[in-house]
Amino acid sequence: MKIKILGCDGGSLPGFSSVSFLINDHLVLDAGSITTKLNMKEQLKIKHVLITHSHLDHIKDLCYLADNAFLSGRSSAIEIISSETILTDIEKHLFNGIIWPDMSQIPSTKNPTLKFRSIKGEIQLGDLKVKAIPVAHSHAALGYVLWDKKSAIIVSGDTGPTTEFWEIANQTSNLKAIFLEVSFPSSLEDIAYKSRHLTPATVLKEIRKLHTPHIPIYLYHLKPLYAKKIQSEVQAFKHKQLKFLKASKIFQFK
Ligand SMILES: [Zn+2]
Ligand SMILES: [Zn+2]
Repeated sequence: MKIKILGCDGGSLPGFSSVSFLINDHLVLDAGSITTKLNMKEQLKIKHVLITHSHLDHIKDLCYLADNAFLSGRSSAIEIISSETILTDIEKHLFNGIIWPDMSQIPSTKNPTLKFRSIKGEIQLGDLKVKAIPVAHSHAALGYVLWDKKSAIIVSGDTGPTTEFWEIANQTSNLKAIFLEVSFPSSLEDIAYKSRHLTPATVLKEIRKLHTPHIPIYLYHLKPLYAKKIQSEVQAFKHKQLKFLKASKIFQFK
């Protein structure tokens, strides 16, 4: 499995970019940084966009991706994939003809730029198998496990403390990497708890639920204003599995 990290931050400032992971060149997980990071040739290879939840930092580039696809005369629709609830929220609140045109009707309902496809159980998307995992964040938020023939990864999406995510991680064979959110420093535990995110202190409690001590855990979605503080808190743990994800990093799992 090839993964290119297009963006992995939990906010916006120069040098920081919202979450998007490009997987095997045809699928993007979350739409925080697609059109600012991929040229037109690369955007035209995207067939599927998997969405963890409807917060703006995870969906905003759907607008520009659809705009570029339409204007380039692309003939095939891009599939936007998530739970029924999340897709309904995106259609109702983003592609509603007020915030952005309804790209599932443009240029025509028969030949749309975007198609919305809900995920239930496991689905096959090209060479990738994908399963959604309910996590503890906003309205109906999801994490995902993705497999190809040789490897698997698991991505938390935005989440507070959770159980099912770790149970699935423990059951997944050929698991090569865990991508786990951490958004606030431990001193902001109260904000993290209310907004349903993790801190270094809660990450440390969470990873005790994992039974495989050798799999790397890449932390991402740090709020830019607290990135240095979060990094120094995590580094103080001297925990071998915990690493920080960086934009532009490319993983090639075999
Ligand atoms: Zn977010
Ligand atoms: Zn969120």
